[in-house]
Amino acid sequence: MIKFFEKEPYSPVEYSYEAERILYKGKTKYQDIMVIENNTFGKILILDGIVQLTEKDEFFYHEMLTHIVMHSHHAPKRVAVIGGGDGGTVREVLKHQGVEKLYFVEIDEEVIKIAREFFPSLSSGLDDPRVQIKVMDGAEFIKRTDDLDIIIVDSTDIIGFARTLFTIDFFQSAKKSMNNRGMLVTHTESLHFHKEIVIEMQEMLKKVFPVVDLYTTPIATYPGNWWTFSIGGTDIDPRTINRHCEIKTRYYDSEIHLQSFLTKGFYRKLINRELDW
Ligand code: SAM
Repeated sequence: MIKFFEKEPYSPVEYSYEAERILYKGKTKYQDIMVIENNTFGKILILDGIVQLTEKDEFFYHEMLTHIVMHSHHAPKRVAVIGGGDGGTVREVLKHQGVEKLYFVEIDEEVIKIAREFFPSLSSGLDDPRVQIKVMDGAEFIKRTDDLDIIIVDSTDIIGFARTLFTIDFFQSAKKSMNNRGMLVTHTESLHFHKEIVIEMQEMLKKVFPVVDLYTTPIATYPGNWWTFSIGGTDIDPRTINRHCEIKTRYYDSEIHLQSFLTKGFYRKLINRELDW
């Protein structure tokens, strides 16, 4: 039995997983890729030593990243998923029958190939005719695109080549690429361990978007667990559900939607840096 120790860049704790088997190990122009098999979590995708998803609990992350904005928007038809090479977010977006076009923009083609081979339950939607795969930097793609209803950023942590997706330039291009009711959602690390990053991302979004908010979801396999998702939009309040939930999900539902946002009082204290932990 081999033990894998995660190297999460901002985390004060270190997770380790027993690997029953190493199913794949390789290196691309962008990152190291590894797939291991663990008795509890099933297959685990690891990029540059950081756990991206486990078969067992990926649905918490992918459903919550996708379905909040997809149910707040009145009629999402044109969607872009930036990153998310495993295909989990694409799978969730495609559950919405009204979606006509889905741009799937992943910088590293190898991640898509590995997902097709080892994670078919995640990558199952990639050949849907509504999906157009673009292998390129998401920030470059967004500069050249318009008329999007929803942008979902499903990237690696805020380091290296993923940094381009967490800048004011990117958010400004994202706003320009959206139609007048557009919404963007991005993951912004853990509230327990990365509070300052969360606040900075909210501040950056507020410089660009009139409506900004934050919601959270518990995720066992991301250090800090109390995982945050930040939204920027033009006019729709993401705390409002504007479309009835008709799709099949395991975790997301309309009550979870409403509960996942921080209370307004707690949010204010957080943003004003009145909370010290
Ligand atoms: N849910 C995961 C997490 O937060 O740990 C993210 C999973 S997904 C595999 C992340 C993907 O984002 C990776 O495949 C990576 O190649 C891609 N990515 C990172 N930066 C990117 C960029 N600038 N443009 C497009 N894709 C990017």
